[in-house]
Amino acid sequence: MKKLKSHWLRKRTFKSEGVGQRLVRYLNGQPSERFLHLLATTQALYEVEAARLWTSQQWRDLFMQFAKQIHAFRLIPAVRMEWRKNRWHRSLHWRTPHGKSYGEADAVMDLLKLDEARLIWRLRQCRRCHTWYFARFKHQRFCSETCQQKFFRDDDQFRGRRRVYMRKNRKWHKERKERMRKLFENSRRRKD
Ligand SMILES: [Zn+2]
Repeated sequence: MKKLKSHWLRKRTFKSEGVGQRLVRYLNGQPSERFLHLLATTQALYEVEAARLWTSQQWRDLFMQFAKQIHAFRLIPAVRMEWRKNRWHRSLHWRTPHGKSYGEADAVMDLLKLDEARLIWRLRQCRRCHTWYFARFKHQRFCSETCQQKFFRDDDQFRGRRRVYMRKNRKWHKERKERMRKLFENSRRRKD
């Protein structure tokens, strides 16, 4: 029983992985402005739902926005011929009036698929290089291990520079305090 469940999970993750990678390629290409808006709304909606704020005004507002944004895309169903394993296959895809091979319309359909699978949170931008990636776990913040290491190395260098600056700063303040103290004493002596 346990084996069956893990197999199912593995299969499902693999399926979404394909959808996710297609979306990542689209996002790292030239995504349309309205697609980015739709993605932001979908992710905000997901966050509100994950926080169980089903009855909130925020959820209603986001839902209305989501519906409006979705409606603005005029999607045209189309079929494609694909030669695989020695025969032709039909595959359904979507296009917008100015559609390319994988364009905005396919990306919208993939976004909806990912949202339905409750995995829209996985689409993220790397904290360091701003490349889009498909997150493997919730606390992932970088596209790769390389980026993560570089980010923290740069951060260390930044902290190092900051330490030197703070040391100099402290020294300057100390000297300034000393100068002020002397000035104050001198003026008092003069008064006496
Ligand atoms: Zn990165």
